Order: sequence, then structure tokens, then C-alpha cells
Amino acid sequence: MTDARPTTLPTIAFLGAGSMAGAILNGLLSPAVSVTGGIRVTSRTAQKAASFAGQAGITAYATEERADANREAVRGAKLVVLAVKPHLVPEVLAEVADGLEPGAIVVSVAAGVTVATMEAVVPASVVVVRTMPNTPAQVGRGVTGVSAGSRATAADVALVRELFETVGAVVEVPESQLDALSTISGSGPAYVFLLIEEFVKTAVAKGFTPEQAKLLVEQTFLGASELLAATGEDPAELRRRVTSPKGTTEKAIEVLQGAGLSALFDAATDAALARAKELA
Ligand code: NAD
Repeated sequence: MTDARPTTLPTIAFLGAGSMAGAILNGLLSPAVSVTGGIRVTSRTAQKAASFAGQAGITAYATEERADANREAVRGAKLVVLAVKPHLVPEVLAEVADGLEPGAIVVSVAAGVTVATMEAVVPASVVVVRTMPNTPAQVGRGVTGVSAGSRATAADVALVRELFETVGAVVEVPESQLDALSTISGSGPAYVFLLIEEFVKTAVAKGFTPEQAKLLVEQTFLGASELLAATGEDPAELRRRVTSPKGTTEKAIEVLQGAGLSALFDAATDAALARAKELA
């Protein structure tokens, strides 16, 4: 949650109950959030549906048990979150299209599926909003890019913002920027985990046990992130405070910057963006 205000949301249907839907559901199940009319969740398997059905306020359906699971879930729902894999989005949307309420908001979290593709499938009375969340949503520390479709009003976008603010921060961008946003915050957690993996390896190479190395590195990442968030200061300034002139940290920073760290980040995110264009 980005603030302590209670959030009230209308009936929500999640079509697809995998990692991303699960992460958002964690936020919705917080005591500070009330979903009037309840939450519906669909998945392919009965086993997965059953794992959600036990939770307060959730009705879950499996497509392997009832062919109309998705259609049943969207009946009367104001927010319909499309959380299946991207290649299944057109098929699932076509399946429910004529069962969507007029004024319903289809909220896609699927990478690469455009607003135009989705708007072409649903009736003109249905709104589309495309989003790009990330997995720290699971612990309420996500950041979600939100792009309004052509029929979305300011009130529609505000409602979608409220949904994602239950699991972190929200940044509104034009759809043309959503793939670029994905290379930063969508993929970003993977870059951070890679840095942590490498940092742990180097600590082990310096003689620490794997447990000590993990604690030293993870606590350093957590501590630095929290210091940044708590002080609101510029990261370059916080870095300077750790880096005494002619000291040890300065030597390490010189090596990292000398190896072209900036160019490496540009090249990595450029490669991700090029791949997003290939997949579109
Ligand atoms: P996942 O495989 O964990 O979940 C997909 C779910 O869809 C499964 O529960 C599956 O049972 C269900 N499903 C399959 N066919 C279905 C159907 N016909 N009807 C209803 N449910 C069906 O996938 P995920 O990682 O949660 O990704 C889901 C979406 O989230 C993708 O479109 C992806 O682009 C997007 N996304 C994922 C991440 C991430 O980091 N995982 C980040 C941003 C966006």
C-alpha cells in the first residue's frame, strides 16, 4: 500500500490465477481493502482454483471443471483482470466478450498485447486499460505502469490505479512507453537478483560461508534500499557518503565504472526492448 487510506473496490474477476494474479490478490486480501461484491478467480486446473477458493471473499472456478468458468466470473464484474499468458489473451477475451457488463474495465497485465488488439475484441461499451506490474507486488512493493485505452475515462484510470496501489506504486504512461517501462521495472527485479547472486559469489570467494555471504549481501541491498526510501535523498549523494576520497570504496567504484557499467545497463535494456518489439 502506498498510503494508509482504506480502499473500496467494486467486483473484480481475475481470469488466470498464476503468479501475477496471486501477487495482486495478496494486496486485495489486506484488511485495509474491501472489495464490494467479491472477487472471482479462474484458472485452468481445479487444484489451482481450490487453492484460492479457501480464502475469504474469493469465488474460484476452473475451466477444466466448467467450460463457462470465465464467462461466469465476469458476470456483473466491474474490473476484469486478464492475467493469463499473453498468447491466450485474445482467445480468453473473445470467450467472455459478449458477457462483459457495459462499463466494465478490462485490465490486462499481459506483456505485448496492445490496447487496439483488445479493444477490437470487446463491445464498444467496454473499456480497456493495459498495465505492466512487477513481482514485488507480492509483498506490497510493486510498481505498475498503467496505460489508458482509447475509451477509458479519468475515473476508469483512477479505479485501476487504486487496484494496483493496493500492491505498491503506480506510474501512468502512454502505451508507446509501456515496453520501455517493462525493461526497467518489469524485468528489473531479475537484474537486482542477478546482482545479488554475483555479489554473494564474490563474498564466498573471499572466504565467507554461503550463509554469511547471503546475509551480508541481502542485508546490504535491503538496507541501502530502505535508506534511500527513508531519506528520499539522491542515490548519488548517498553513494558519495560511503565513498571517502582515496578510500577503499572509491577503488571499487572506479573499477565498476571503468568497466562501462552505464553502457552495460543501456545495452541490456535496449536488448530487452528489441525483444519486446520482435514478440509484438
Ligand atoms: P502463470 O502461468 O503463473 O499464470 C497463468 C494462469 O492462467 C494459470 O493459473 C493458468 O491455470 C491460467 N489459465 C490458463 N488458461 C486459462 C484459461 N483459458 N482461462 C482461465 N485461466 C487460464 O503466468 P504469470 O506469470 O502469472 O503471467 C500471467 C500474465 O502476467 C502474463 O500475461 C504475463 O505477461 C503477465 N506478467 C507477468 C509478470 C511476472 O513477472 N510473472 C510481470 C508482469 C506481467
